[in-house]
Amino acid sequence: MWKVVRGNLREWVGIVLHHGAANAKTERHDIQAYANFHVKPAADGGRGYSDMGYHFGIEEDGGIWISDAGEKARWVWQRPGSHTKATKSLDGKIVMPAGVNSSCIGICFAGNFNEEELSRLTFESGVRLCVALLREGIHENANVIYPHSRFQEKDCPGKKFPFEEFVKTVATELRIRAGVKIA
Ligand SMILES: [Zn+2]
Repeated sequence: MWKVVRGNLREWVGIVLHHGAANAKTERHDIQAYANFHVKPAADGGRGYSDMGYHFGIEEDGGIWISDAGEKARWVWQRPGSHTKATKSLDGKIVMPAGVNSSCIGICFAGNFNEEELSRLTFESGVRLCVALLREGIHENANVIYPHSRFQEKDCPGKKFPFEEFVKTVATELRIRAGVKIA
């Protein structure tokens, strides 16, 4: 017998952006290194997760990783991430009773953007991914993209991460795809 589980699935309501330096104590900055660190047992200095704690990872060359937790892609099956342990924004304006990890897709950009600039390839790849996810049905609105620092006292995704420009670019792309003329 088929059991319909759709009703149990939560809807994604936003996207939270991260950089790898905030959450992974690795020497190398690439998504494989973060995933290895996340999967390593806590007793060995890792996190002991079933997979990378983010739903997606973006490499410096723009390549996109999809976390699959060994079964199905996290984001498709609404599996919570382990990227933002909070239920509301620091200013209290955004409240997510089920928790940000369960309500928002987490995207990690490989690198440390407190120290380095985001490459153009990474930026564009991140924009494309967000546009696709937002069009897939979160909200066709770039206002639901948040920096991790909105929810926790962290400088993630990094002081040099061009967050405003990123959201503006996603918003423009969404409008172009919706057939709105850009003046
Ligand atoms: Zn973060």
